[in-house]
Amino acid sequence: MSDDIRLCTIIGSGPAGYTAAIYAARAGMNPLLFTGKEPGGQLMITNDVENYPGYPDGVLGPQMMADFQKQAERFGTEVKSDMIASVDFSGPIHTVTTESGEVFKTHTIVISTGASAKWLGIDSEKKLMNKGVSACAVCDGFFYKNMDVIVVGGGDTAAEEATYLAKLCPKVHLLVRRDELRASKIMQKRVLNTKNITVHWNTQTVEILGEEEVVGARVINRVTNEESTIDAKGFFVAIGHKPNTDIFKDWLDMNESGYLITGADNTSTKIKGVFASGDAQDHIYRQAVTAAGTGCMAALDAERYLAANEII
Ligand code: NDP
Repeated sequence: MSDDIRLCTIIGSGPAGYTAAIYAARAGMNPLLFTGKEPGGQLMITNDVENYPGYPDGVLGPQMMADFQKQAERFGTEVKSDMIASVDFSGPIHTVTTESGEVFKTHTIVISTGASAKWLGIDSEKKLMNKGVSACAVCDGFFYKNMDVIVVGGGDTAAEEATYLAKLCPKVHLLVRRDELRASKIMQKRVLNTKNITVHWNTQTVEILGEEEVVGARVINRVTNEESTIDAKGFFVAIGHKPNTDIFKDWLDMNESGYLITGADNTSTKIKGVFASGDAQDHIYRQAVTAAGTGCMAALDAERYLAANEII
């Protein structure tokens, strides 16, 4: 373990983490940022981001995250491509241990570990994972060019994945478990106006079919109880996300879904010097711009904590 005590350590490299890094670096806190397993976070698997202010023509998710990183590094953020495996918040100085076994001491921590895709949890999904089952159309859609595919979900993610795939595939079957979409009105309109997307209302997956690769799905209509089979080569699950907060469960308060609980008017957790931002603590807004906003707040809160304790 290095004896150096860092002023600020940031866990996560989505909009929240990099924004915290930009603010912490500019405040002279020499932040150390751990990227985690999916550097850049969820935006790396997003195609066009059309709702981030300042990009009137939209921007590709990976491009935006490359820009975030560049801006954070420009002010002196040290970026490490490692995953934090565990934390110890028992003392006034906190420690984080990486998957590769390195231990770092730090006065403050900004948690911005984000959230990961949820799965249906059926056996056939596990069996056919990466053999036609995917949670990322932008990453894997190309493999199903000119083939029919299924998308599951009714939110903005499902709508976005379905419209993306509709540009590559002759037919996209969207399986929606209720009789309405949860997606925003503009996304709903896009789905319903895209000719090669067929929405299957009140429909749930019973089994994904195939042995070595996906060949379709057996589905059930929840109203009529009628079962049917849909042929498809790709099966895209787009049913929401789970916060990546498991390593904090022995230390921090979280709600029943695992979202970290922060102060009413700041980003503090119940441990002094530990702050949370982005999708790891936000189950309501979950937008890149709100994640960036809370990342900024967490860095300012960390700076105030360091100043109040005469550490800087
Ligand atoms: P949501 O939680 O909004 O939607 C999840 C969808 O999956 C719902 O339709 C839900 O059905 C359905 N679902 C959940 N579990 C199952 C299951 N077991 N079987 C079948 N269907 C299931 O998640 P999203 O990822 O779509 O969106 C998350 C947030 O990110 C939202 O705030 C969204 O607006 C935002 N977002 C914005 C984008 C953009 O602006 N470009 C792009 C993507 C996301 P039900 O409705 O019945 O609960």
